[in-house]
Amino acid sequence: MKITKISLYQVDLPLKEGSYSWSTFSFASFDSTVVIVETDSGLTGVGEICPLGPAYLPAYAEGARAGLIKIAEGLIGEDPCQIGRINVRMDELLKGHPYVKSALDMACWDILGKATGQPVYNLLGGRLQDAVKLFKVVSRQDPDAMAQKIREYQDQGFKQFQMKVGAGADSDIERIRKVSAELRPGNVLAADANTGWRQHEALRVVKAIRDVDIYIEQPCPSYEECLTVRQHTDHPMILDECMEDIRLLMRVGGDNYVGRSLTIVLAGGEESQAA
Ligand SMILES: [Mg+2]
Repeated sequence: MKITKISLYQVDLPLKEGSYSWSTFSFASFDSTVVIVETDSGLTGVGEICPLGPAYLPAYAEGARAGLIKIAEGLIGEDPCQIGRINVRMDELLKGHPYVKSALDMACWDILGKATGQPVYNLLGGRLQDAVKLFKVVSRQDPDAMAQKIREYQDQGFKQFQMKVGAGADSDIERIRKVSAELRPGNVLAADANTGWRQHEALRVVKAIRDVDIYIEQPCPSYEECLTVRQHTDHPMILDECMEDIRLLMRVGGDNYVGRSLTIVLAGGEESQAA
């Protein structure tokens, strides 16, 4: 099988609730790029790359499209089912910028699934559960407005929540206190600072909410800062933004077996659930 054509489509994804705010960021819509990979077999694959604005992570929408245009012509004639080879070829055509390549990688997995008659999850090792429990994001607003939102979401049936913080220690302490006070028995809450706290602010927050049953997510930019915070609290911690490569992931695994920094949980992909 050979790739014969690659097309890009830009699409704005508006937010159902009007806006989405986290840490110091706020957006009314996200700029997404859809990639269609066509082949000489008639099979097509679809991929997408949708950065959360230009300043949150080292990725931006216009950069994704520029990078895809740079790569696309070099993949014409390649076999999309040879996904390792596709990724080697993409690295030959453009160094780094893995977010750009993710949409093409995704489209090739889609083609491989269609070509083999298998869902992609089977090709990636099989599924471990029949359903995935999503959580509802409480966008960052004033503390009282966030408390009202989690009441509404629980009335709608949601049971697991992530509240956005990271705007400043004092206001975030108030946010966590007011939102957690509304949490009904059995429901689960995490506070995601999206790297928005300095280490000293994060230490103040976890100390001030010591009695609250809550996960703390990515309090500070670096893994080292987060590790220090974790060593000063019993709150379980979730890390995502700072998990940039497999070497750091392995190091986190090692640190989990040493000292007191237990129960670091890795998470990902939740942001898209909110869109
Ligand atoms: Mg997060």
